[in-house]
Amino acid sequence: MSLMADDIIQFSSVLRIAYNLLAGRDYLKRKKFREKKKLISVALPFSDLIYGFPDLVPVFPIRMHAFKIHKYLTYLSLGSDIFGWKRVSKFLSFVKNLGISEASRIIEEIIGDVIDTVNDKYNEMYDLGIESGIPNDFCYGIKSLYGMHVSKGKNVEATLNYTIRCSAWNKYLESLKTIENPAKQVWIDIPPRNIGNALELLTENIYDAIRELEKISGNNYDKNILRNHFQVANEIRKYYKTILYEISTSDFYPCNPATFSEILVILNNSFQDYNSNAIRYRDNMLSLVNEMKERIRNKIGMDVSKMPRILVTPMFGGWEPKSHEIIYELGGRALYADWDMLLLLEEIPISKFSDPVEAYAQFLLNATKTGIGCDNDTLTDSYIRLAKQLNAEGLVFIQLFGCHSISNCYAMLKEKIRRDLEIPSIALTFNKIGENVEQVKTRLGAFMEMFK
Ligand code: SF4
Repeated sequence: MSLMADDIIQFSSVLRIAYNLLAGRDYLKRKKFREKKKLISVALPFSDLIYGFPDLVPVFPIRMHAFKIHKYLTYLSLGSDIFGWKRVSKFLSFVKNLGISEASRIIEEIIGDVIDTVNDKYNEMYDLGIESGIPNDFCYGIKSLYGMHVSKGKNVEATLNYTIRCSAWNKYLESLKTIENPAKQVWIDIPPRNIGNALELLTENIYDAIRELEKISGNNYDKNILRNHFQVANEIRKYYKTILYEISTSDFYPCNPATFSEILVILNNSFQDYNSNAIRYRDNMLSLVNEMKERIRNKIGMDVSKMPRILVTPMFGGWEPKSHEIIYELGGRALYADWDMLLLLEEIPISKFSDPVEAYAQFLLNATKTGIGCDNDTLTDSYIRLAKQLNAEGLVFIQLFGCHSISNCYAMLKEKIRRDLEIPSIALTFNKIGENVEQVKTRLGAFMEMFK
C-alpha cells in the first residue's frame, strides 16, 4: 500500500469522504438517538428518494458497522474541527516530508487501513451471509448484503427495495423478510420491460412508496424538498463525471494511477448513500474536483500518457481489489465506472415546474431500459459505450460466480469489442476477495503483455 500514501494524503477531500464512509456508525447513532431520525437501508445508488424526507436518513448498511479506524484518522477528524481539513492534510504531508520513518509508517497505515478495512468487512459480511443460510449460488454482493442485514438490519426502520432486471437480486430482497425482526420493506417495482405505459406505472409505484415513507416518517411528502435534493444529486453526478471523463482520460494525473483507482473505488462505494449526507458529499466532491485540477495545473502528479487505460467492469457486485495495483505495477491504469455504465450518473431531469417524481421515474426508466437493459444486447452496448467514452485501450471483464445476469454476457461482449473497438479484453472470474490473487496476477500479467 505504500505507493498509495504519498499521493492520497494530499487530497483532503478524499480523506473526508473516506472518513465519512468509515465513521458512519457514530454519525448514524447520533442521527438516530439524539436527533430522532429514522434510518432507511438502501443499496446500489438508489438513495435519492429518501432525501425527500428530512427526518429519514439513507444508509448503505455496511456503514452501520464499527470499522477499525486508525487512531490518527480519528485524530484528523478532531483536528478538522479546529484547523480545517486542508491544514491537517498539509500537516501530514509536512510530517511525511521530514522523512521520519515512524511518521511515514503511520501515514501509510492510515491509508492502508481505510482501503483494506472496507474490504475486510465485505468478506466478513459475505461469511455471515453464508452462515445465515443465503444460498451459495448467489453472487458475492448479494451474500455480503444479506450478511449486513443479518448483523445490522435491526437498526433500520425500513429497507427501500428497487426491483431490477436481476431475478437473484429480487429474490434476495424478498429473503430479507426471513431475517429475525425484519425491518419494514418499501418496494419500488421498476417495470422490467419497455411496455407502453412503463413510465406511468413507475411513477405510480414511486408515489406508492412515498405514501409508505410518509407513514414511517410521520411527515407529509414535500415536492420542493425532493426537487432541491435532486439538484444536489445532479451536482454530485456532474462532479463524478468530471473526475471520470476529464481527469481519468487525461495524460497527466494528479496522483499516481493506483491512487487514482483507489479514489474511484471510494467514490463507487460512497455514492450509494452519499455517506448519508448529500450536501456534505456534494461539497466534498466539488473540493475533490478542484484539488485534482489544481494539482494538474501545478504539474503535481504523474505523466500517465504512456500507461494504457484499462477499464475494469463490472465491479460493484464484487471484484478483486488488488486488480488496480497489479495493473499499475504492470504499467497500466485501471478505471472503474460502473455507475456510469448503468447510466446512473445521468442527470435526473428536473425543472422548476415539473413533477420531481415523474422526473425520477424517467431517470430510473432510462437506466433500466438503456443502461442495464432488458437483454444482453443492450447491456453489452452499455459496456461498449463506456469503453469508447473513456478511450479505454483494454477491458477487463469480471465474471462473478453466481451472477447470471450482468456478468454473464462476455461471449457477446467479446465479439462486439472485436468488431467495434478492436482492443484487447480478458475475463477474470471472481468469487471472494483475496481468494484468487495469484491467478489474477498471472492472467493480468499475460494480458498486459499485449500493450508492450
Ligand atoms: S452482480 Fe449479478 S447476480 Fe449479483 S446483483 Fe448484480 S446482476 Fe444480480
